[in-house]
Amino acid sequence: MKLLRHGDRDPSVAEARAAFIHLGFLPVAPRQQSSSSDVDAPADQARPASAPDSVGTTDSTGAYDSAGAAGSGGAAGLGSTAGSTETSDTAELFDRELDNAVRAFQQSRGLSVDGIIGPDTFRAIEEARRRLGDRLLYYSVTHPFVGDDVAALQERLSNMGFDVGRADGIFGARTDAAVRDFQRNRGLDPDGLCGPRTLRELKRLERTVTGGRPDVLRESVRLLARGPSLLGMVVAIDPGHGGDDPGVTNGPLCERDLMADLASRLEARLLASGLEAHLVHGPHESPPEAERAARANEIGADLLVSLHVDASGSSQAQGVSTYYYGHARGSSAVGERFALLVQREIISRTDMVDCRAHPKTWELLRRTRMPAVQIDLGYLTNTHDVAALASTEFRAAVAEALLAATQRLFLPPEQDPPTGQLRVPRITARA
Ligand SMILES: [Zn+2]
Repeated sequence: MKLLRHGDRDPSVAEARAAFIHLGFLPVAPRQQSSSSDVDAPADQARPASAPDSVGTTDSTGAYDSAGAAGSGGAAGLGSTAGSTETSDTAELFDRELDNAVRAFQQSRGLSVDGIIGPDTFRAIEEARRRLGDRLLYYSVTHPFVGDDVAALQERLSNMGFDVGRADGIFGARTDAAVRDFQRNRGLDPDGLCGPRTLRELKRLERTVTGGRPDVLRESVRLLARGPSLLGMVVAIDPGHGGDDPGVTNGPLCERDLMADLASRLEARLLASGLEAHLVHGPHESPPEAERAARANEIGADLLVSLHVDASGSSQAQGVSTYYYGHARGSSAVGERFALLVQREIISRTDMVDCRAHPKTWELLRRTRMPAVQIDLGYLTNTHDVAALASTEFRAAVAEALLAATQRLFLPPEQDPPTGQLRVPRITARA
């Protein structure tokens, strides 16, 4: 291909200009746009409303070019204007404005900034103007797809908790595995082809998952991605204290021992129901909160339940509260839902006072990557709560309540069974 630079007058200049307008490196020019510009129309991506219209490529299926992975598909415009009837007299001038745009673009792409549109810059333009939906993407071993559409796909998958490695804009084996993973989890044919059906599902799921914050998306989709049952789901159980740290004490009762008992009851109930359960620490230690969080992250837990009791200077204070990660600007949507379920199940199965669920930014809640709750199961300074906590029936009922809350977390609202009914839900029904 020929090189284009400042001062050149060439039919390709108009197309280069159109490409840089499309990429946002030039304002939309008032001049007449060449209708032969084949700037790929993003299927449904946001772009400047006044960007030059492309010709006949906006249909969601028609937008796919079939040129395969060689990277040449859809690139009929820039640099291939042999058939143009324009002469070099009337052809557009490569002016200062375009020169500046080329240099800015080169800088943004890590290319050498020389203002010349040569092979490297040309290839970078082709990559940059790809929009997700422009073409069918899949894993080609010999000619991998490269472009901003691939990077956008990788970012979306990654935001939803699928492992694409680095979002490098290259459709490699790892991206392929992530796409198939996503397809499998959404009930699509896991063919690795990122076409209209997969893109539609991607978009739908992004809208379904509330919050819009990547970490919220991530934890929500991790849950959705568990597959059709709770089998194999990992619940991390964090007994609040241990070792020579007894927590709150009252006579013969201490928080450490009561919560250790509850933790092992809960562990047994979860295991018996086909879930995996892990204590994040043994009875002889009481790690700092950050360490507890790190361990839960390490074992890849899907949920974390931290078990405490409370104490107060007032013997009147009583009841159960549950805490989830959150602050004034936002909270963990799944964490909050789980906390509400925990409260509801415990309150309905015991005679404890409902002190509700509350957002907190405590280390344990902040540093865990899965939805996490801390439960304060009554006051060891209140006569009523002490009597409850001291009873094995009460602790068994709470373990059952926590199991029910865990199962309920995965049920779509319309399938919510009556309180106390235990079963393995089917997450696929949620779609
Ligand atoms: Zn405690």
